Amino acid sequence: MSDPILTIRNATKRYADVRALDDVQLDVEDGEFLTLLGPSGSGKTTLLSAIAGFAPLTEGRINLRGRDISSEPPEHRDFGMVFQGYALFPTMSVRDNIAFPLKVRKRPKSEIATRVAECLALVQMEEFADRMPTQLSGGQQQRIALARALSFEPQVLLLDEPLSALDKKLRADLQWELKSLHDRLGVTFIYVTHDQDEALSMSDRVVILRDGRIQQEGRPENLYNKPRTRFVADFLGKSNFMTLPVKDQNRDAATCTIGTAEFPVALPEAKRPEDTLELALRPERIRLAEPGQEMLAATVRQVSYLGERCQVLVDQETLGTLMVSQPTWKTGVTPRAGLPVSIGWDRDACVVLDPDTRSA
Ligand code: ADP
Ligand code: MG
Repeated sequence: MSDPILTIRNATKRYADVRALDDVQLDVEDGEFLTLLGPSGSGKTTLLSAIAGFAPLTEGRINLRGRDISSEPPEHRDFGMVFQGYALFPTMSVRDNIAFPLKVRKRPKSEIATRVAECLALVQMEEFADRMPTQLSGGQQQRIALARALSFEPQVLLLDEPLSALDKKLRADLQWELKSLHDRLGVTFIYVTHDQDEALSMSDRVVILRDGRIQQEGRPENLYNKPRTRFVADFLGKSNFMTLPVKDQNRDAATCTIGTAEFPVALPEAKRPEDTLELALRPERIRLAEPGQEMLAATVRQVSYLGERCQVLVDQETLGTLMVSQPTWKTGVTPRAGLPVSIGWDRDACVVLDPDTRSA
């Protein structure tokens, strides 16, 4: 792998008694689409601002291609930015907005004209060059903000919830556009969102933050399939959680029991022997079948039809209520409230979680 473009070491940011960032270590690969994901207040904006140079770290350092930029002002870092509330200049036309970063950098007039045209084409807004920002829709304004941030060809683009003010349909369209823009330009994107679907669908890699700390990072499918903590399993998608007695276990597998039923789970590396295991089970991994066909007896409590999927709550004697999600077009049984069913899952469906380590 090539050298990272950014290395963040021991990054801590304190505001009075709040630790907005707490000893963060992160490498950003050149050209990747990296997403910082976490609930409100988890430190996403603080980390992005520290990278941008708006909020200097209390401790730690940030290197850009090996050069320490921790105490450099934002304009020396030269990153493109699309921030929440970092709006277009209202008294400038679209063209002048996009030209602004180039004028500040004293680029020649002819180059500015060419580059503005290129950037308008990039976001498919060629016809809008002479409009004022107030004459654009929210989605169009975000496209221009993006064009402005890219006009001076930054090596890194920082984006803080750029789509959060847009409605769902438009947001989905712009997610595709942003992703394709990233793939065409090869610029490093660092993207902040609290929206898990957005993070999963766009990113090469996702970093999950909580209370200013990195909880877990990895490729979207890895995080989704192998969450290490209950927090990650719960924040990224939906999960059923169960704490079950362990009957026997060896180095990499254990047998869990539910009443008289037994089933095997794979143990993550370095998992200590314990009497019980906390497991996460995705709703879509649970099979629903006629009574007696699968491992456990259960009863349908409630059914919610969502078009492509059907969400079913089932009651199981030992486990309580579980959520099951199945495609509506391919069902083992057609669930309705009160129906006796059976449920089961594959060996790799249950993920063993680490005990939650959040301090009170
Ligand atoms: P996020 O972007 O994930 O919602 P932030 O990075 O904005 O979270 O905030 C992280 C924590 O730092 C929060 O507890 C927030 O209240 C606090 N914080 C952020 N900025 C400031 C500030 N300028 N002064 C004091 N506290 C702040
Ligand atoms: Mg924020």
